[in-house]
Parts: sequence; structure tokens; C-alpha cells
Amino acid sequence: MLYVGVSACLLGHKVRYDGGHKGYSFCQNELSRYAEYLPLCPEVGIGLSVPRPTIRLTGDIESPRAIVTDTGDDLTAKLAAFADMHVGKLSQLSGYILCAKSPSCGTEGVRLYKANSEENAREGIGIFAARLRTLFPALPIAEDRNLDDPVMRENFVLRLFVYSEWRAITAAIRANERATGNDAEPTRDGLRSFHSRHKYLLFAHDDRLHEQLAHELQKISEFTDEFLDSYILKIMLALAEPATREGHTRVLLKLQGFFKQRINSKDRLELAQLISQYYHGEVSLAAPVTLMNDYLGRYPDQYLASQSYFHPYPGDLNLRCDI
Ligand code: SF4
Repeated sequence: MLYVGVSACLLGHKVRYDGGHKGYSFCQNELSRYAEYLPLCPEVGIGLSVPRPTIRLTGDIESPRAIVTDTGDDLTAKLAAFADMHVGKLSQLSGYILCAKSPSCGTEGVRLYKANSEENAREGIGIFAARLRTLFPALPIAEDRNLDDPVMRENFVLRLFVYSEWRAITAAIRANERATGNDAEPTRDGLRSFHSRHKYLLFAHDDRLHEQLAHELQKISEFTDEFLDSYILKIMLALAEPATREGHTRVLLKLQGFFKQRINSKDRLELAQLISQYYHGEVSLAAPVTLMNDYLGRYPDQYLASQSYFHPYPGDLNLRCDI
């Protein structure tokens, strides 16, 4: 089960400044089948009432302030400290879904006002969201409005599952260290397995990173927190850029090579046609991947079956049918 932070208003909690909510169907109905949520409202969390006066981001882009419009009170420090107060729980998360446009939760394009002026530009980041990013740079974070886009939604869910797996692996690594007094071999095995399993998934996003990180893993003798944080950050930053049609085609062509010797000429032709149709935008990614999964069922291969590219998240989310 994933553990995901969510702006409480997106789960239907009536915590907004006007007493309403912004219930978001994807969180409430779809992802909830696979996620336990940590619902937080930073503004209510720092003691504001519901309803309450509006807050706006004010000042310059480098150091915006969250100012109550009625009173001029500056809530910046309290909103940032709210994230620090919950750092224990936040460090358990596999991702976070934040409410767009909010001066507390918005991750981009929040209205930023010039001091003592109505002049504004959509270039701010909410105070809580900015602190969250600073504390957990590898954590997958998305806004509700981005998740309406099929490519962004698929990408975010994919990252949730990869990061969730990573958290479980690092927890096992630390448990092993405590039990064995820092024996590096089981750690190396766990990392090697994670690295191998996500090879083609990563390859769709970045054609070099997997190999670069493989060299780093080979060379390293001590798995410090610094090394592990740097390793996963590089992976999560690469995955955060959605794979292009070219990137997926690069992977599909590589995988096609594995099947060539096993399937007959009719199946080879069918697969080649589907990959070409996908590349030209005539079918979704689900079409060639489903066919490859079918071949994997008929011609089992342990290495290929282990690749997360074939099943990066539960299939009934149907996320590859629209990309
Ligand atoms: S956007 Fe954030 S601060 Fe605003 S109501 Fe929703 S959870 Fe609370």
C-alpha cells in the first residue's frame, strides 16, 4: 500500500478559506484503492479558522511571504514550520498531491503580488510546498490540475510506486546493517536488484543514467546515507521528466530484440507494426506493451519478467491507455 500525503481539501475535507473543499475524484476514487492518505491542511494546521480571511503570496520570487489580506499578518514562518513539525510522518511518504494555486500548497504558478499592489504574476510557489520540496527533494510531488493530464498522471503514479519500493529497500538495508553490523553485501544485492529491475523504465526517460549509476554502484564500498540519497535523487529527477514517445520507442525496440528469437515471423511482424504505430501516435503505449506481456506469458523469461517497465503500477489503473 502506498502512503501518500494530500492537501486535505482534495479529499473533500471542508478546510478551505471559504468553508468549502476541492474534492478530487482521482484521489478519492481511483488512487485510494492503492494508497493510504495523510491528509494535511497547513493553514488549519497553524491554527487558522474555517472560514478565514484570504492569504496571498507577496514580495519577490526568491523569498515570497504569505500575507493575510485583511490584517497584513505574515504567516510565512508558521507555514514553513508546519512542514518541519511533521517531518517524521512526511519522511514515511511515497509522494504528495497538493492543491494548485494555493499560497500554501501550490507548487507552481501561484499568484505572486507585488508589495502594496494588485499587480501580480503567476510565478509563485506555496510556502508549505516549497518547504516540502526542500526537505524531501526526491519525493514525487504533483498538483491536482497536473494530474488531469494523462501523461502527467501516468508519470506521477509511476514515480509513486518506484519511490515506495525505494523506501522499503532502504528500510531493509538499515535493518540489515543493525542486525549484521554494517555488512555491505546484502545492501549491494538489494541495490543491484532495484537497479536491474528498473533498467528499461529508466531507459525510457534517460538513455545514459542507468549505466552511469551502475558504475557508481560497482565502485562504492560504503553505502552512506549521502550516497543513497544522491542515487535515488538522480533516478527520481530523471523519472520526473515524462518519457517521450521517442523514449518509449527506444525501449520497445530494445525489448523487441529479446523476443525476436522466440516468436514466429507473423508475431514478429505484428510486434514491429504495433511499435511503429505507437511511434506515429496511432495507438497507445498499452498496445505494444500488452502484446509483449502476452509473449512473456507464452515464452517466460525471468529477467524480462522482473523488469518494472512491463508492470510499473497496477494494470487496472489503465494509465497507459491514454498515452
Ligand atoms: S489548499 Fe492547502 S492550505 Fe488551502 S485548504 Fe487546501 S489543504 Fe488547506
